[in-house]
Amino acid sequence: MKVVIIGGVAGGMSAATRLRRLREDAQIVVFEMGEYVSYANCGLPYFVSDVISNRDALLLQTPESLHKRFRLDVRVRSRVAQILTSEKQVRVENLATGESYLESYDYLVISTGARPTQANIPGIERAVSLRTVNDADRAKEQAQSLLGDPSAQAVILGAGFIGVELAENLRHLGLKTVLVQRGPSILSQFDSEMIEPLQAHLVANGIDLELGATAVEVTETSVRLADGRELRADIVASAIGVTPDNALAREAGLRIGQTGGLWVDEQQRTSDPSIFAAGDAVEKAGALTGEESLIPLANLANRHGRLVADVIAGVATKARPALGTVIIGAFGWAAGITGLSERAAKRSGIAHQVIHVHPGSHAGYYPGAQRVSLKVLFAPETGKLLGAQATGLDGVDKRIDVIATAIAGGLTVDDLMDLELAYSPQYGSAKDAINMAGYVGNNVLSGRTPTLQWHQLLEAQAAGATLVDVRTDAEHSAGAIPGSLLIPVDELRDRLTELPDGPLVVHCAVGQRGHVATQILRAHGRDVRNLDGGYTTWKAGVDSVARASR
Ligand code: FAD
Repeated sequence: MKVVIIGGVAGGMSAATRLRRLREDAQIVVFEMGEYVSYANCGLPYFVSDVISNRDALLLQTPESLHKRFRLDVRVRSRVAQILTSEKQVRVENLATGESYLESYDYLVISTGARPTQANIPGIERAVSLRTVNDADRAKEQAQSLLGDPSAQAVILGAGFIGVELAENLRHLGLKTVLVQRGPSILSQFDSEMIEPLQAHLVANGIDLELGATAVEVTETSVRLADGRELRADIVASAIGVTPDNALAREAGLRIGQTGGLWVDEQQRTSDPSIFAAGDAVEKAGALTGEESLIPLANLANRHGRLVADVIAGVATKARPALGTVIIGAFGWAAGITGLSERAAKRSGIAHQVIHVHPGSHAGYYPGAQRVSLKVLFAPETGKLLGAQATGLDGVDKRIDVIATAIAGGLTVDDLMDLELAYSPQYGSAKDAINMAGYVGNNVLSGRTPTLQWHQLLEAQAAGATLVDVRTDAEHSAGAIPGSLLIPVDELRDRLTELPDGPLVVHCAVGQRGHVATQILRAHGRDVRNLDGGYTTWKAGVDSVARASR
C-alpha cells in the first residue's frame, strides 16, 4: 500500500505516524512545501518575543528523525502542484532544484492547512503574518530592529486568536501595540460580556484597542483607517483570519463545502474515495448546530489526521462532530470557550437558557484564589448542555475542559451539580465553580429562580419593573446600576412595604444573594426575577457596549 500525504505538520504528520504504527508494510511519502515538518505553529507568537527563545524547540521532528523512527519518506521543499485523480498521481515540484515529477498513490491524504486571509487593501504586502517558522523569523527580525526606539509602534490588523497572541508578545518586547478590529469586540467567538474582562486586561497592559475600525491602506509608515485616522505603524501584522488552503483539491474537482472548506464524510473521505483530508483545509460538522463549519484548531487537525490513518488501515471508526473548544491567554488572563456562544445559538435558532456565575478558582480562604467568570448555555426544556465560556486569572482551562467533556458526554446542567471534582483548598472548592454552575442552572431550569439577562434590563425597567439592589450600602456606593433601589438582602424581610407594586428585578454582586432575595419575594407573592450574574455581569456587558462605541 502506498500512501502519499500533502502537508507535513499537524494533520499530515499525525496521519503518517499513526499509519506507520498500524501498517509496518505501507510505503508512506510526505510532501511539504516549506523547509520544516512537524513544527509547532501554535508556538510561533511566543517565539517572536523570545518567550520561547530556542528556535529548535519549535521544530518537533525532522525528515531524518521521522525516517529513523517511522521510516517515513519525508520530502521538504516539495510542493504538490497538481492532483491527477484518474491516474492516481500527484505532480510534485522540487522547490530546491526546480525539477518536477509524478508520484503515484493508492491513497492520498490532503492536509494543506489554511493560509492567512489577506486584506484587499493597498500596501498590505508590507504586513507580516504568522503561518510558518519563516514568517515568525521575519516578524521577529522586524520587531527586534525596533527595540531601541521608544516611540516605535506595531499595528495588528485583526483581533482573533493569532492577533491577540501576537499583540501580547510584541508588547512584551516593549513595543507600543495597537489591535485594529472591524467588529465590536475582540475574539468574535465569545459573547461581548465574557470577553470584556480580557479586553480591559489588554488595555491595562498597554495594548490600544481600535474596535469597529477598518484599515483601508498600509503606507510605508502608517495604517490608514476608514474614518481618516492614520496610525503610526513601524511594523504591521495581518491576522484577519485564515482561509482553507484547498486550491489543489478545487482544481482536482473534489467537492468543496458551502463554507469554502473541503467536504469530507464521517471518515474524512473526500468526494474521491481514494483521497482523504484532515485539518484546517476541511470543513467540520458542528456538534450542536449540525451545520458545517470551519474550525481551524490543532486538536481537530491531529485527531482527524489520526482517524484518516485508521480508516486507511481498515479500523472501523468515524469522526465525532466538533465542539470547537479553545482557550487563549494574555498577560496571565485566560478566556476559554466550548460549544455554542449565546450569539451562535441565536444565529442558528437554537433555543437556549443562559446562566452566569462568578465563583473562586479555589477556596477563598486559601491564598491566591481568583474569580472565574463562567457562562453556561443549556436547552430550556431538557437542560442539555450547549456551551460555556470562562474567563479569569486562574482555573479557566480546567472549567472549560470539564464542560467540554460534559457536553461530549451528553450531560445536562443538572449533572454539573453532581460531578465529583478533585478538591483541596489550593485547587478548588468543596462546591467547585462547575458545581455552582450546576446549582444555579438547576434553580433556573426548575423555574425556582426566574432570571433576567444584563442586556434585557433596560427593556424591563422601561416596561415598569423596579430594580432592587440587595447588596450592602458600601457596595452600592462603590458602583450602582442606574435606577436601582437599595435594600440589602438581610433587611429585605423587614422592608417589604418599601417596594413599589409591579414587577421586580433584584440584583447583587454575582447573583447569589439575588437568588436568596428572589426566594423571599416569591414567598410574598411578588413577580420577581434575579439579574443573572449580578452587577459583575451587567457591568462587563455595559462596559463592552461602551468600549465598542468609543
Ligand atoms: P498546517 O499545520 O498548517 O500544515 C499544513 C502544511 O501543508 C503547511 O506546512 C504547508 O506548507 C503545507 N502545504 C500546503 N500546501 C501544500 C502543497 N501544495 N504541497 C506541499 N505542502 C503543502 N490551534 C489551536 O488549537 N490552538 C492554538 O493555540 C493555536 N495557535 C496557533 C498559532 C498560530 C500562529 C497558527 C498559525 C495556528 C495556530 N493554531 C492553533 C492552529 C493550528 O496550528 C492548526 O489548526 C493546525 O496546524 C492545522 O493543521 P493542518 O495539518 O491542517 O495544517
